Order: sequence, then structure tokens, then C-alpha cells
Amino acid sequence: MLKKILYSLWIAVFLLFVIYTAKNTNFNTFLDAVENKTFDLRQSVIVKSGYKKPNRNIVIVAIDDASYEYILEKYGEWPLPRDIYAKLIDYIEAQQPKSIAFDLMFVKSLRSKPGADEALAESFKKYPNIYTAMNLDNQSVDVRRPVELPAKLSVKVTNYSKDIDFDSLSFLNCRTILPEIINNTQNIGMINVSRADDGILRKMPVFVKYQGKYYPQLAFRVGMGIIKQEENYNPHEFIIDRSSNLLLNNRKIFIDKDGGAILNWYGSTGTYQQLPLYRLLKAIDSNEKFSYKFNNKIVYFGTTASSLFDIKTIPVAKIYPGVEVQATYVNNLLDNNFISKVDKRITVILGVILAAIIGYLVINIPSAAIVTLSFVSIYSLYILFAYFIMKYHNMWIGIVYPIMLGIIIFISAFVVKYIIKSRDFEQQYLLATTDGLTELYNHRYFQEQMKMQVEQSKRYEIPFSLIIIDIDFFKKFNDTFGHQAGDAVLHQVAQLLKQSVRSTDIVCRYGGEEMSIILPNTSKEMSVITAEKICKRVAAKRFKLNNYQESNVTISLGVSSFPEDGDTTQEIIEAADKRLYQSKHNGRNRVT
Ligand code: GH3
Ligand code: MG
Ligand code: MG
Repeated sequence: MLKKILYSLWIAVFLLFVIYTAKNTNFNTFLDAVENKTFDLRQSVIVKSGYKKPNRNIVIVAIDDASYEYILEKYGEWPLPRDIYAKLIDYIEAQQPKSIAFDLMFVKSLRSKPGADEALAESFKKYPNIYTAMNLDNQSVDVRRPVELPAKLSVKVTNYSKDIDFDSLSFLNCRTILPEIINNTQNIGMINVSRADDGILRKMPVFVKYQGKYYPQLAFRVGMGIIKQEENYNPHEFIIDRSSNLLLNNRKIFIDKDGGAILNWYGSTGTYQQLPLYRLLKAIDSNEKFSYKFNNKIVYFGTTASSLFDIKTIPVAKIYPGVEVQATYVNNLLDNNFISKVDKRITVILGVILAAIIGYLVINIPSAAIVTLSFVSIYSLYILFAYFIMKYHNMWIGIVYPIMLGIIIFISAFVVKYIIKSRDFEQQYLLATTDGLTELYNHRYFQEQMKMQVEQSKRYEIPFSLIIIDIDFFKKFNDTFGHQAGDAVLHQVAQLLKQSVRSTDIVCRYGGEEMSIILPNTSKEMSVITAEKICKRVAAKRFKLNNYQESNVTISLGVSSFPEDGDTTQEIIEAADKRLYQSKHNGRNRVT
């Protein structure tokens, strides 16, 4: 019964804990931070396994350290004059690439040569497959007045998901680029990123908000441009469904609660083919041969030079150029392998089921070693499962919450189990040392205690006493009132004895209707006084025999003490016995 209550209580506390932890935001922030690390680990292992192959059509034209030096030397300035970009575009376009994207912002430069910016802007008009970047920020309006962006740059988004909140992706200001370019194209995307608290870039925004409108990410724009070409799909409105999926033709892109799409990584370094910009520049400057073929490629221009600071930390690499993040994004979009998060509620339910299994095993399997082994195996399998559904299905299922539940249930189940066990042990100990009828200690316990008393009293040279008690004419009492009435009296005498002595005194049933009291640290004199008191109390009491009868009984007592009556258990018991016999002989109802 009590066992059932304890178990139910434990299950109730556990369920309350589950609800509390599932709802507490602070706790969840902590769990998310740890969970993120497990994501990084999974991604790193998957990347090392070489299972995921990057899209070979993506190529990066890298503004690396060598190119930066080449530009400074050859053109005497950075940024590269815009008309040179126009020449580069013409050179690549001649080979019919799918698109050319610049992970660069063509902002107004005081050093711009007359006509250079216009030449680049002209390219945007000439080729419909060129993309470039812009950035939103929260710069003070005193420094820069927020501009209004043309409607063609924004997109219509309808969000049916209650989980997604675009607040952290809403910005107050915009850093514009050359108005000539804005006039000539709508292929401008934002390059705002969203980093986690630990500085690692796991997600990228799909849309960012500015002045109440949604603006797509550069990579999203680039990817959509290709989807439009290849799948003839060009929505006038983007829909995010109730399950937080952005619907794109036959694709579903999961959008996390803060508005980011979770990137799936293909490699930690050199994922995409990189062509150093200076080699292209040499090709157009001096007709030097450059054998790379750009046809059908998605060409991404971006900086990889450490001096130009566009370096990110991603789950699978500490140092990763921003342009490769862009390339990975486009790759995810085209190959439809963004990561989708498994609904938290499903993770919680899975965690509860696993924990319930663990709880059941701990309670029902006696061997702690086997239970621990099962615990480790069950959660190892779960981790493997989590790894494989990320690897093969691009799904991120929570590991930390289920494991935390498992550990808590594992430990608490052991605690509950041992509380119940120790309670059982106590009960058994009580059964083994007490007498059922009188609720006094039994004979065996009496003998043990006598032995201990003799040893202790000898070592510390302190006295102790023993009183042996026998009910007078009890045979006759039984014969007169019946055995049951005798039992009732025996029980009541026993209780009276317990009430009449100190709590440190040990009252035992010696056998039959004989009882004994061990009085530690008590001299003969004192114990005789106690014995007299008991004798009088019993004689004075009316004992209930049953519901309608009462009667008196008397007892005879014999007292012996250490050390005067002997220094062994046997001697002391014999002495008390002898005195009890004398009490009987001298007329009963007395102490000797
Ligand atoms: P005395 O004054 O000499 O002690 O007389 P007595 O009849 O009590 O004699 P004795 O101590 O030898 O008798 C013990 C009797 O106590 C025998 C038995 O009928 C009774 N008795 C022993 N144990 C129990 C018990 O557990 N319940 C009941 N009802 N009677 C018991
Ligand atoms: Mg007797
Ligand atoms: Mg008797």
C-alpha cells in the first residue's frame, strides 16, 4: 500500500517536473545551448563521413589575400573599381553561367572614377542573372537617415505559424548601395546573419524585416532565381504553414522560432571550388589564359582574405568565409536539404517514454549493473537514432532533454527503490526483534542486549540492573477468565511496564507470562525503587479483560545488578530468577 503511494507520488513529481521544464524559458535557453553543441557534433561527424556531397555547380571567385594585394598593386585602391567588375561580368556571362552573385556591397565610394559605378549598374540591366547584397542594421538615425526601399526589393510573406517570431530579424535602418544599381535590378538580397549566443552561425534568415516589409536573403534570392529558371516556379507570395515550413513548390523549408533556416553543412574547408579573383583579373587585363569554364555555374563572388574580415564560425569549422556560408545556403535550397527541427512536443513525449522504460527497469530488475547497462544502451541507441535521422533525413531531434529526463528518472528510481527497500528491512528487523502479543522485545533481543550490557558495564565500570517479572497465579487466571482474557492482560501489563521505565530501559518478553527489564547505568538501589513502583502500579490497575469485565492481577519481581550479583549474563539472570522465586515464596506481589 505505502509502496504504491510512494511510486504514485514519484510519478506525479516526475510529470510535474516534465511540465515545468518543458515550459520554463530560462531552463530551455540553457538546454538549447547544450543541444546546439550536440547539433555541431552531429554535423561534424556527418561531414567527416563524407555522405553529403556539395553541389558541384557552385563555384566561388575568392577575393583572397593574394587577390587583395594584386588589386592594390595593379589598381592602387580597394575596393576594386566598379568598371572592372563590369568587365568581369561580361567575361563570365560570355560563357553562360546560371547566375553570378556578389556577396559584396557596392556602396558609394568617394574614390569612384566617373562612369565606373554606372558601368557596373549597366551590367545589372544587361544580364537578368546577376545578384548583389545589401545589409540592414540598427544604426542611429542621427548618423544615417533610413531610406525607403523600392517595393520591387521586398516580397510578400504570409506566416501561419504561431511559433515563428520575426522580432530579432526586424531592423531600423538600411545601408543602401549605389542607387544606379537599385534602379536597374530587383536582384538584391540582404546579407544579415543570425548567430547564436555562442557566436556560432547555425541559421540564416530567409526574410528580414524593415519598415514593415519582408526582404529576402541574398542566397534565397539567388536560389529562387535558379528555381524560377529550372522549375518555372515564381510565387508572388511566400507561405509559411502552421508547422513552420516555408512552402516552395515541392520543397518545405523549416523556419525556426527566430525566423532562421537551419543550414546543413557539406564540409569544413574548401567545400566549393575556389578561383582566386586575381587570376580572372589577369585574364581580362592581359588576356592571360584562364581555362575554367563558367557555363551552367552559379558563380559567387566574396572575400576570403583574412584582412577583409568576413569570417564566420560554423558548426563544422572555426573559420569559414561568409561567401561559403552563402554558397551552402544556395546549395541547401537547390538540393532541398535544409535541416528541419523535430517538434519539441514530440521530443518531450519520446523522452517521457524512454524515461518510463528506464524507471520500470530500475524498479523491477534487481541487478544495478544490468540496469545501468540497459540505461547506457537505450540512450546510446537513441543518440545513434538522432544521428542517423539527421544524416539521412536532415532532421534535428533533441538529444539533451530526453537524456536529462532519463538521468533524473534513473537516479530518482534508485532512490525510491532504496527507500522502499530500507523500509522493508526496518520492518523485518522489527519483526525479528519484537514479540507480537506484547509488542515488547523478544527473548533473542533480550539475550543480545544482556551481552552488550555486561561488556559495556565492564569496560566503563558502570553498573546496570535486571528485573525479572512473573504474573502471579496466571494459570488460574487463564482457567477462570479464558486464554483470550489472559492475552489481553499480558498485553496491558507489558504496556504498563514500558510506561513505568525510562526510554533507555529495555523491556522484553522473557517467555510465557514472564517479562524482563534491562536498566542500563542503574544501581541496585535505584532499580529496586523502580521495581517497587511497578509492582504497586500493576496491583492498583484494573485490567480490561473484554468489553464488560475487569480484574486485578499482581506480579512478583526479582532484581539483580552488575557487578555485585556476578559479571556474566548467566550469573545476573540466575540471581534475578532466584530473587523472583523468593518473591513468589514469600507470598507474591512483591520485590526481592
Ligand atoms: P505463579 O504465581 O507461581 O507464577 O503461578 P502461575 O500460574 O503463573 O504459574 P506459572 O508462572 O508457572 O504459569 C505460567 C502460566 O502462564 C502458564 C500459562 O497458562 C500462562 N501463560 C503463559 N504464557 C501465556 C500467554 O501467552 N497467554 C496466556 N493467556 N497465558 C499464558
Ligand atoms: Mg511463569
Ligand atoms: Mg506466573
